[in-house]
Amino acid sequence: MLINGKEISKQIKEDIKKEVELLKEEGKRIPCLAVILIGEDPASQVYVRNKIRACEFVGMKSMTISKDASFTQEELLALIDSLNKNEEVDGILVQLPVPDHIDEQAIIEAIDPIKDVDGFHPSNVAKLVLNEDGLVPCTPQGMMCMLDAINYDLDGKEVVVVGRSNIVGKPVSLLCLHRNATVTIAHSHTGNLRDVTKRADVLIAAIGKPKFFDSSYVKEGAVVLDVGMNRDENNKLCGDVDFDDVVDKVQAITPVPGGVGPMTIALLMSNTLKSYKAR
Ligand code: NDP
Repeated sequence: MLINGKEISKQIKEDIKKEVELLKEEGKRIPCLAVILIGEDPASQVYVRNKIRACEFVGMKSMTISKDASFTQEELLALIDSLNKNEEVDGILVQLPVPDHIDEQAIIEAIDPIKDVDGFHPSNVAKLVLNEDGLVPCTPQGMMCMLDAINYDLDGKEVVVVGRSNIVGKPVSLLCLHRNATVTIAHSHTGNLRDVTKRADVLIAAIGKPKFFDSSYVKEGAVVLDVGMNRDENNKLCGDVDFDDVVDKVQAITPVPGGVGPMTIALLMSNTLKSYKAR
């Protein structure tokens, strides 16, 4: 079975759109997302454009603030401070990566946790660890929605997450743990990776290596969530999983493109609405 991220994310955005329309009908303020882009990285420009388009789709306001690569950390901190104080702004997102002269963690920590729609602020990370209600990173949340869409119950299942980044691997592991899965986090120092991944009822691939996982890494009947966004030898977008080699062996799998990617943006809209409501 193909887990269609395009369709599932469309449904989530449609639901948000209805909520925003209701706010409009009631004459209430409309949620607003502010996106800050520093520098001219082409991939980041595409991501930002897609996020703004999603805001337009659901009827939210958006603010794109583009600065050239020489924008200093102090200037960025001052900008974030002004957005923190701006009553009209519900969500603040700094498109990562930022140029080398800016300390990424300092920027993440400057954002008011209530407006931290990426869910990267330490206060939201702590809430995730404690399984308290907070803003959860979008990509991991998107993956949970995909499992919900196929009615997959993680309780008692063996989940293997390959990749331990703060934005994907660690948070998705915690979400699975909170749903009573037995979770293994593998990474570049893991020995016998194949033996580990072959145990997985659910394999989450988040390493950023094109078509790394062929069918020899996958258990028969597993569910495979492929987070990777890579270019193959023909410069075509592909995941971390060798889709063609794996698809016949599994119960369900996410394609790339059209899998986890669109979910991330839908959950960003959801987080912005959540920030709005919390304020
Ligand atoms: P990072 O580069 O931050 O982390 C990669 C992780 O993979 C690290 O933990 C690393 O281990 C591990 N790793 C790398 N190579 C191997 C290997 N050969 N065997 C085992 N583990 C390995 O990546 P991100 O988490 O930010 O992103 C991962 C992928 O997901 C990328 O392709 C990215 O583009 C994509 N992505 C997609 C999103 C979407 O919306 N679809 C959103 C975010 C990311 P170690 O820690 O030991 O170095």
